Amino acid sequence: MLTTEVKALRRLSEILLGDEGVKIIDIIKEKGEVTDEELAKILDKDVATVRVMLHKLFDAGILRYRRVKDSQIGWYSYYWYFTDEPVRTLVQQRKSKILRKLEIRLRYEENNSFYVCPNRDIPKLTFNEAYNNMFTCPVCGSLLEPYDNSQDIEILRNIISKLKDLQI
Ligand SMILES: [Zn+2]
Repeated sequence: MLTTEVKALRRLSEILLGDEGVKIIDIIKEKGEVTDEELAKILDKDVATVRVMLHKLFDAGILRYRRVKDSQIGWYSYYWYFTDEPVRTLVQQRKSKILRKLEIRLRYEENNSFYVCPNRDIPKLTFNEAYNNMFTCPVCGSLLEPYDNSQDIEILRNIISKLKDLQI
């Protein structure tokens, strides 16, 4: 695997798991593949904790595993190794995930009208939430006023278009 790819994997892994994530990438890079138990020993952590971390890396598409049955005790061992999918694809997937969330948020902003307390002591409420509070602030009792969310929408649209243009 290329040095730049390993760097990108370390960065992704750090976002997910912090320093431990970086360590796991380095260990697997050195050994090629590693079992849950080996990794637990090296990191000086219990196997259950290590498994949770490995599964996060698996879900993110960074690691794969192969299962090997021990013919004597009948248990399975899991050997973890790097996916051979290009790192670019992984980052792309993360980007689409964030984009999807932002677009849901944008639709929510576009499809709702909002009310807010003049004292700004609560987050903005949707019409239904305001209605359920009889248009008074649940904190200070002030009458709620309509909130113009066009700036929020503008900011969201901006982030979305920047993220879409981002080249990796
Ligand atoms: Zn208030």
